[in-house]
Order: sequence, then structure tokens, then C-alpha cells
Amino acid sequence: MMQKKIVLFFPSTVVEQPFIYHLIKDYRWMVNLLKAAINPRKEGRMVLEVTCTEEDYQRGVEYLQSSGVSITHLEQEIVWVEERCTQCGACAVICPTKALAVERPSMRITFDDSKCIVCEHCLKACPARAVEARF
Ligand code: SF4
Ligand code: SF4
Repeated sequence: MMQKKIVLFFPSTVVEQPFIYHLIKDYRWMVNLLKAAINPRKEGRMVLEVTCTEEDYQRGVEYLQSSGVSITHLEQEIVWVEERCTQCGACAVICPTKALAVERPSMRITFDDSKCIVCEHCLKACPARAVEARF
């Protein structure tokens, strides 16, 4: 089994098709939907964490590409440098997935990289440069 985080871009002509249903049923992808949005031009963007065999992954990718869906991999990763963190909380406010969050009752910042979708909002928000993007 392999696990990947990927971003799918759907043109407006196909955005309403049941891709996730087919990926699960026909290609045996185990899918964790991290984020989904449709812009005003009716184009879709979806961030997924996929677990499946390499063979099923390739088959699913071919299905998506032949249907007009573009795929990119989240190859960058976000690293939290705890020693530099001043616990200001700015990142926890803007992190859309709560990968960076305030732990209660200690009220200290924690980072769960399995929830991170590499949106990079925290890079801009952190005054202490305690969050870094690495390839
Ligand atoms: S890049 Fe930063 S703000 Fe975006 S999901 Fe990851 S930890 Fe949260
Ligand atoms: S914004 Fe930076 S300094 Fe502030 S809590 Fe988040 S990681 Fe720590």
C-alpha cells in the first residue's frame, strides 16, 4: 500500500461527475477528502489523501486524466520548528485543517502533519519563521 496527497483540478465541463465514487468503487482508492472548493467559473479543486496499491493508483490516475482532470502531487512538506515558535497562535487561527492548532488545556501550539494540505497560509502568518516549507 502507498499513501499520497494529491490535488485534483476539475474543468467546469466535468465538475459534477461522480469521480470519487468511481475511484473508490472501481479503483479501490481509500480516500480522505482534505479540502474541496468550486470557484466562480465552476472549476473544482480538491485535495485528497489516497491510500491504495501502486497499480490501482496508476489505473485511477489514468481514469482521471482521460476524463480531463489534472493531478499534481503535494511534494512539499511543512515543518514546524518548535524551538523558534513563540506560541503567538497566529497560525492556528488561519490553518484551514487545524494541522496547526491550540491544544487545550495547555493552550500550546501543536502540529499534526497528517492534516496539512500545504496551503502555505501559515508561512505568511508566522512572525517568528517557525514554519518552513521543505521539498
Ligand atoms: S500549510 Fe500551514 S496553514 Fe496550511 S494546512 Fe498546513 S499547517 Fe495548516
Ligand atoms: S504563528 Fe509561528 S510563532 Fe506563532 S504560534 Fe504559529 S508557529 Fe508559533
